[in-house]
Amino acid sequence: MNIAKTIKETRQIVQQWKNENLTIGFVPTMGYLHEGHASLIRRAAEENDRVVVSVFVNPIQFGPSEDLDKYPRDIEMDKRICEANGAHLIFVPGVDELYPFGFSTYVDVEGTSKGLCGGSRPGHFRGVCTVVAKLFHIVQPDSAFFGMKDAQQLAVIRRMTEDLCFPVRIVGCPIVRESDGLALSSRNNYLNDVERKAALCLSQGLDEGLRLIENGERNTHVIKSAVRKKIEQEPLARVDYVEAVDPNTIQGIDYIKESILCAVAVFIGNTRLIDNFIWEEA
Ligand code: AMP
Repeated sequence: MNIAKTIKETRQIVQQWKNENLTIGFVPTMGYLHEGHASLIRRAAEENDRVVVSVFVNPIQFGPSEDLDKYPRDIEMDKRICEANGAHLIFVPGVDELYPFGFSTYVDVEGTSKGLCGGSRPGHFRGVCTVVAKLFHIVQPDSAFFGMKDAQQLAVIRRMTEDLCFPVRIVGCPIVRESDGLALSSRNNYLNDVERKAALCLSQGLDEGLRLIENGERNTHVIKSAVRKKIEQEPLARVDYVEAVDPNTIQGIDYIKESILCAVAVFIGNTRLIDNFIWEEA
């Protein structure tokens, strides 16, 4: 497995593969990899000849009061997980490599970036789209793999890819969970034992919403308030949002017709966690 710190090295390796007509799958990450990331890498390896993983804690997608400095990092563990799951190249750029002095170009996707995490984290998706656009230019993948855990991010990236004519197939991959239902996240690392138990309220709240839909409820206001009520039974939880939106446009929906993305963001202590489900009419 190759490890590249510069854009130049990455381009050289990718170019060699392109000359050999090999397909390239790409998994962008912020590192501190877990089984959720590993599932993306394996999927990329199943569907492509070569797999590139980027590990970059992207400063421009963090707000001023967010956890950029304390975001967990362990590049040796990341390398092991990448190698064990079939990656061929890890791109680990420094901040100056992607944002040299004078950097001033940003990608802003309208519509899908509004609301949900876009509402709570102003500028977040501008940062995500800018870095993903740069990475797409550097890696030139045939396919790129994103987790449905970040469902709004997936919708925003799909929109950007289409709008900017990137010749990249965007693949959404299922949420990987702990056996008790907690969605895997690098941020789970912040939780102490009591908070870890409390964090189950996200998946339990969502389960309650799903149960209502499966029993025929279609009014999203009823569903959202049931999800919120369940989450708020946990004293350590502070709800940031509970929303029900169209999975593609991220526009709010009052009554479910074909499909719904029910998404939550909840603070457990100081840690902000997100989770969601997508339900589609059979
Ligand atoms: P991150 O390192 O948090 O930026 O995540 C990198 C990619 O891994 C994103 O596409 C995430 O949606 C995906 N991911 C993170 N956690 C999970 C999970 N529990 N299941 C599936 N994909 C995930």
